[in-house]
Amino acid sequence: MKNTMSSTTKLTLILGTLLISTQAMAKVNIFACEPEWASLAKEIGGNNIKVKSATTGLQDPHHIQARPSLLARARRADMLVCTGAELEIGWLPVLLQKTGNSKIQPGQPGYFMATSAVRLLDKPSKLDRSQGDVHAAGNPHIQTDPRRIAKVAKALSTRLGQIDPSHAADYSKNYNSFNQRWTKAMQGWQRQAAPLRGKSIIVQHKSWVYLENWLGLKEIATLELKPGVPATTSHLSQVMTLAKSQHASAIIYAAYQSPKSANWLASKTALPAVKLPFTVGGTGQAKDLFGLFNDTIDQLTRAIK
Ligand SMILES: [Zn+2]
Repeated sequence: MKNTMSSTTKLTLILGTLLISTQAMAKVNIFACEPEWASLAKEIGGNNIKVKSATTGLQDPHHIQARPSLLARARRADMLVCTGAELEIGWLPVLLQKTGNSKIQPGQPGYFMATSAVRLLDKPSKLDRSQGDVHAAGNPHIQTDPRRIAKVAKALSTRLGQIDPSHAADYSKNYNSFNQRWTKAMQGWQRQAAPLRGKSIIVQHKSWVYLENWLGLKEIATLELKPGVPATTSHLSQVMTLAKSQHASAIIYAAYQSPKSANWLASKTALPAVKLPFTVGGTGQAKDLFGLFNDTIDQLTRAIK
């Protein structure tokens, strides 16, 4: 049998097909700083993106090592999805500078900071570094409020549409689907969490102001002496007195934090020390954003009577 196609023609055809399929499959490569934004990017980006988070739910996002593998990933990224408001100030600016990747520098469409889509709480009236590791732009830990996540989702879908206009319709469709499911889930969480309103809590770090604002919880003290500064024995005994006089209901800490201070106070006051996931992957149940809030509300309502 005679082959009608020369091997060169065959090769050209194969290469052509490969080229077309890689172009059709070219996904927006997203570098997320924290797992909650990687999860949100998956919800909004669907099959048109690929995303990886620089940190896990068991790492402190304030302080991570800018490892060479992270640098390599940031070099290839089309887009950065991070918290902003100085949360990543200890590592992201250096990483960005080292990448030389112009697409993800501040001011570029590929530079997306979640906090820029929402109103921030705890903005200090004057910046005083003697007050500890204060976040000058306001409290960056916005992912503990699902209403703010909804705002970030909308802004992210718009931005993805600018970066990848050929799939803009997909991003807006994915956002609408997410927003519908999210709104319904939020109503359920609010119903379940209604008994928490007005309860006093003690927290390890000021990580929960948005959750408190959403659910009507009252924060009466932090275990940290100042933001980012560990507790001292004398501070903890003051918190203990306060816990009793203000009738605290629980002590709350994030999965990535050491439970030592929380457990000490719990043993002295008989208050429950509640470990919350804080982000996706913080606990086994917090597999995605929905799981994050299912578990957060479950833990809180179980502990606080
Ligand atoms: Zn913080």
